[in-house]
Amino acid sequence: KRCIAVMTSGGDAPGMNSNVRAIVRTIIFHNCKPFVVYEGYEGLLHGNIKEVLWEDVRDWNAMGGTLIGTARSPDFKRREGRIQGAHNLINFGIDALIVCGGDGSLTGADIFRSEWPDLIKELLDTNKITEEQYKRHQHLNICGTVGSIDNDMSSTDTTIGAYSALDRICEAVDYVEATAKSHSRAFVIEVMGRNCGWLALMTGISTAADYIFIPETPASSETWREEMCDTVSKHRARNKRTTMVVVAEGAIADDLKPITASDIHETLTKRLGLDTRITTLGHVQRGGSAVAYDRILANLQGVEAVNAVLESTPTSPSPIITVNENKINRKSLVESVRLTKSVAEAIKAKDFKKAMSLRETE
Ligand code: ATP
Repeated sequence: KRCIAVMTSGGDAPGMNSNVRAIVRTIIFHNCKPFVVYEGYEGLLHGNIKEVLWEDVRDWNAMGGTLIGTARSPDFKRREGRIQGAHNLINFGIDALIVCGGDGSLTGADIFRSEWPDLIKELLDTNKITEEQYKRHQHLNICGTVGSIDNDMSSTDTTIGAYSALDRICEAVDYVEATAKSHSRAFVIEVMGRNCGWLALMTGISTAADYIFIPETPASSETWREEMCDTVSKHRARNKRTTMVVVAEGAIADDLKPITASDIHETLTKRLGLDTRITTLGHVQRGGSAVAYDRILANLQGVEAVNAVLESTPTSPSPIITVNENKINRKSLVESVRLTKSVAEAIKAKDFKKAMSLRETE
């Protein structure tokens, strides 16, 4: 029987549990043995691994967070850590690993797989594994599913957790809207997204915000204050009692300086005399159960991930499971990670044109 492990890594996202549940049960459906690795790569290198049963993932479909834990693991970024991880997988007889996480986690998975032949050779040479284990574990199958609230992974239209986070944000904005209307106040809502304005943009559309700031389209440093105030004033002139401005945490102006919630607060207060408050949603955005769309995505992608592992050959590239125009696809993990990194680097280098054109080539 093949032994396949699943782990969650990086930031938690609603829908990860649903994904793990689908993966575990599909592994069993195919008459293979499912294992979970607890606490991401930290668990991998400390051997925090367990075989699980069908019942172990019962009721996991709707639950938020990740019940098998996640962690940032600096040790896994070092070769010694990965050697330890390889040793543990071999000791458990595991020959395939499905990682649900963001681009960092999937980069780690890709490095792990490409280094695998060297890692097991070293384990053999240092007598940590037997000749028989060495022969049986010549290849490690890796597959990625993308769990992240930011929706910042290239190659896929959406990531598991993004719609749940968006739903949480919209709910919070609706609450704020009620109090804003009562007092005729302005609110600046800061949402997550350092390199990716998807959450801020979709929040703006969903809540009919007055103004939105995202990293990808930097506002003019000279005129953004005036332009925002003009728009807000027009809306107020039509008897609108509330003002909502949504800002992504990575929003920036074209002089490369950040546009922060307090900059916006100051502008609305000083220029328009509005009674303005800032609401930074923080980790509330990650909380709660997965919305139906994320559950569906997590289930369909979990099934596909196991199928991809079972169909992969020693020479086939590691897949990542994506959704494109509502179809579940397999794409090259290496290529997706490379593209995602290029977009993030272009945004960091403030080369927004390049970032946008890279996004369009996805
Ligand atoms: P999120 O999108 O929520 O930030 P992420 O998966 O991108 O999720 P990271 O903190 O970047 O989160 O990565 C999670 C873990 O993946 C790291 O703690 C580390 O163990 C592993 N990892 C990331 N990059 C590498 C790398 N270059 N080499 C080896 N392991 C890595």
